[in-house]
Amino acid sequence: MVMEDIEYDIIIVGAGPAGCACAYQLRNEKLKIALIDKATFPRDKICGDALSADVINQLYRMDERLAADFESFGKKIDSHGVRFVAPNSQHIDIDFANPNHGKAAGYISKRIDFDQFLFDQVKDQSNLTVITGQKVDDIKVSKNSVELKINNSRIFSKLIIGADGAHSIVNKKLGQIKVEKNHYCAGIRCYYDRVSQMHPKNHIELHFYDDVLPGYLWIFPLPNGQANVGLGMLSSEVSMRKINLKQKLEELVKKHPNLINRFENAEPMEKPQGFGLPIGSKKRPLSGDRFLLLGDAASLIDPFTGEGIGNALRSGRIAAEHIVNAIGLNDFSKEFNKRYDKVIYQKMWNELRISRSMQKLLRYPKLFNFVVKKANKNASVRTLLTSMLDNVDLKKELIKPSFYFKLLFS
Ligand SMILES: Cc1cc2nc3c(=O)[nH]c(=O)nc-3n(C[C@H](O)[C@H](O)[C@H](O)COP(=O)(O)OP(=O)(O)OC[C@H]3O[C@@H](n4cnc5c(N)ncnc54)[C@H](O)[C@@H]3O)c2cc1C
Repeated sequence: MVMEDIEYDIIIVGAGPAGCACAYQLRNEKLKIALIDKATFPRDKICGDALSADVINQLYRMDERLAADFESFGKKIDSHGVRFVAPNSQHIDIDFANPNHGKAAGYISKRIDFDQFLFDQVKDQSNLTVITGQKVDDIKVSKNSVELKINNSRIFSKLIIGADGAHSIVNKKLGQIKVEKNHYCAGIRCYYDRVSQMHPKNHIELHFYDDVLPGYLWIFPLPNGQANVGLGMLSSEVSMRKINLKQKLEELVKKHPNLINRFENAEPMEKPQGFGLPIGSKKRPLSGDRFLLLGDAASLIDPFTGEGIGNALRSGRIAAEHIVNAIGLNDFSKEFNKRYDKVIYQKMWNELRISRSMQKLLRYPKLFNFVVKKANKNASVRTLLTSMLDNVDLKKELIKPSFYFKLLFS
């Protein structure tokens, strides 16, 4: 059989948020781009489905029209705040600050819908060839090009973009990121119908019970009376304590006094499904000769909240800018690509580092109970926590002992 050779400027592996953001940002460039995904769309992704204010902000930064289209996209619901449930079962409700551009600050949208929304934005781009249902399983980098085999073709490009998620083949073949259980979380998701007593303003709920610390159980409202229910924990703890997350989730919803009534008439709509969360709690090399890693492939998930969609979009934007420069200078070298790593960590490291410290605080359940108790009694503490949710500088206060000392006397 004769193999056909096809040349592109750029190959993007993965059409999730990171890959689509990168392709979208390159929409006006005179480039020949291939966007390859092993799945056919619409495709599901195991996730909590929560779209934070940062996700909406990234969409605005990509293109105001795109953000406006998302605002009128039907398959999502508004969320106006978060409920934190402390290990002692007391809770606080915190409204999200500053509604985003006059709209809800956050949304929840099933990934099968949200990712389709993003995919639809790029699939007809004139400079893009979309190849779905094709798994990339080998990549060769030589001095002058990157080579892949897809169908019966050899595909060549100048640069390959690994936007292929937690189990990235681009990272496995070309990168250096290894799974370290202390910097990796395990998560499971189960869609439910008819969970009762959902918050009237669709607050997302994070339940920090002793059994799952440092991690949490979540209940996120969805359209049509459904809910995304799941559990996420640091992988090192899951291994050390030999926790079966699926059993633990079932046990909590059936037996925990806070949940038992709420799940009495609830129906699971699927078997719980698991997936890895590569968290950004340490700096890693994100590029090399002729490749860049984005999103989960670059381990950019927030270590405290487990949110990764915002950073996946952000890395797609940053990668696109880098690609334009690399093409302009015809430089795809490891040295040049280090500039991409530098910008990523310039923009994200501060927040990732603080989130790592906050994740460590979860090892002290009494501290959590104390903050919730104080916040319930004191409106100014609640206001402060609201501001901290989306202000990195204020969040820094949370990891200082002086914050808790002041709280003691508030
Ligand atoms: C249980 C759980 C709950 C989470 N909850 C939230 C949340 O509520 N909010 C939030 O912001 N984040 C959450 N996250 C994180 C979020 O899901 C990820 O950060 C986000 O999906 C990263 O986007 P991505 O584009 O980098 O990768 P992905 O969304 O994983 O997309 C990667 C794409 O690459 C394709 N691909 C993979 N390998 C290949 C291959 N060899 N060849 C071709 N294609 C390939 C895949 O089919 C996929 O379409 C959660 C994660 C988990 C596991």
